Amino acid sequence: MRIENDIKLDYKDVLFRPKRSTLHSREEVDLSRKFTFKNASKDWQGIPIIASNMDTVGTIEMAKALAQHKIITCLHKFYTAEELQPLFTDDIADYVAVSSGIKNDDVEFLSKLTAKIPQIKFICLDVANGYTQRFASVVARTRDKYPDKIIIAGNVVTGEMVEELILRGADIVKVGIGSGSVCTTRIQTGVGYPQLSAVIECSDAAHGVGGQIIADGGCVVAGDVAKAFGGGADFAMLGGMLAGHEQCDGELKEIDGQLYKIFYGMSSETAMHKYYGEVAGYRSSEGKTVSVKFRGDVHHTIKSILGGIRSTCTYIGAKSLKDMSKCTTFIRVSQQSNEVFGKNS
Ligand code: 5GP
Repeated sequence: MRIENDIKLDYKDVLFRPKRSTLHSREEVDLSRKFTFKNASKDWQGIPIIASNMDTVGTIEMAKALAQHKIITCLHKFYTAEELQPLFTDDIADYVAVSSGIKNDDVEFLSKLTAKIPQIKFICLDVANGYTQRFASVVARTRDKYPDKIIIAGNVVTGEMVEELILRGADIVKVGIGSGSVCTTRIQTGVGYPQLSAVIECSDAAHGVGGQIIADGGCVVAGDVAKAFGGGADFAMLGGMLAGHEQCDGELKEIDGQLYKIFYGMSSETAMHKYYGEVAGYRSSEGKTVSVKFRGDVHHTIKSILGGIRSTCTYIGAKSLKDMSKCTTFIRVSQQSNEVFGKNS
């Protein structure tokens, strides 16, 4: 047994230190980024935020809405090819990723999907635990089969595994274990890694071998998304922050005059019952189910998140999102905000 004594940080443990800046206004800040991916040898340009491939959030309606902002939606994996095909028009295809697991059925389905929809640009190979040998070999096989697709693979939280997945053919590695808003992995297994430190360490490892990372999970407010980019993330993936909108799946429910939408983890009992009819005997649920206050059209939320990040950039003197991490100094804090009149969110 070994103990690592270095302090590892979450978004809640730091704030940005403000710095002198020549920027006059938030309007001057450019949030768009251009990447050339290592293995796919493809370019992409847009705002590097991604709606999570959870079935309430990673929906076709969300993709149509977010593409207008040049933001990506990672679609959940339960759509049929027929349902997805009409979405891949010229103005939307760049901002859509399809998801797949690594079981034989998933691999076959992905084959059919990409044959039917050649416009698919991003493939997200998504497993809860990206540390298995099988996962790394599926990443390698997927790269061989689809040399020019942009491959996202995850989830992991440590640099050596980020490097391995990129060397095996991934372009972008998804980082985050146990940090999600409806995730109970840390409770059920005791496994996890504080998210900001995971992002800092994994982005350094990825950039060293020419890859990129997604900071996946744990962002609760716009400032957390800014901290993910400040810590070196190339992309930030959001689940809970985009839940509860018109574009999300799930019925609206009225409780005491307030409208709610259901939101749940993809390993929750709710999701397992919905897609597999049961929670398999050998496993436990690692996600929870919650009701989220209805928040209307997602465009308002996106505007507020982007406004927050632009403002961070003006405080730290970053002219663009690309400059954020080199303009970032984090200070460790013991309090995030003044909550005398209730929780800020
Ligand atoms: P959030 O933005 O809500 O904090 O986190 C979203 C992320 O949580 C997802 O992109 C995914 O990586 C993770 N996640 C989604 N469902 C589950 C689940 O049921 N269990 C666990 N452990 N993680 C989940």
